[in-house]
This record gives sequence, C-alpha cells and structure tokens, in this order.
Amino acid sequence: MNENDKPEGGWAFPNSGSRAKAHYFPKPDPLEPSLCGRWGYTGHPLQGGANSKPSTDDCGACRKKLEAAK
Ligand SMILES: [Zn+2]
Repeated sequence: MNENDKPEGGWAFPNSGSRAKAHYFPKPDPLEPSLCGRWGYTGHPLQGGANSKPSTDDCGACRKKLEAAK
C-alpha cells in the first residue's frame, strides 16, 4: 500500500480557549469521532500524526487509546 494513500490521522483542537486540549482523530472524516469519542471531526487541520511526541496539550483519553493501539 502506498504510504500516500493512507488516510492520515492527527491531532486537532476542536474546542477553543486557554484550557483547550488536542484530540486525536484517526482520519479526517466527519463520521469518525476523536479516539476519546467526545468530539466529531469538523474540518480542523490534523497535525502530528500517530507518532508525534506526547504533549501536555493532549487529551489523556485520546493519547491512551492511541498508544494502546500501537
Ligand atoms: Zn480526546
């Protein structure tokens, strides 16, 4: 499978404000919610990909599921 054909997941901030957390979206698809299930994808640019370094901005539930899926 061509690497470029893979739908690329990544982190995005669906919420805003100083306490916003980054949630992980497995793919840029409105039918695919964030890993924690709390947010739907609404067109935010996805950053980082699955192998990005953990950050304090990450949603804890999303990060946990992402690491568990590896
Ligand atoms: Zn999350």
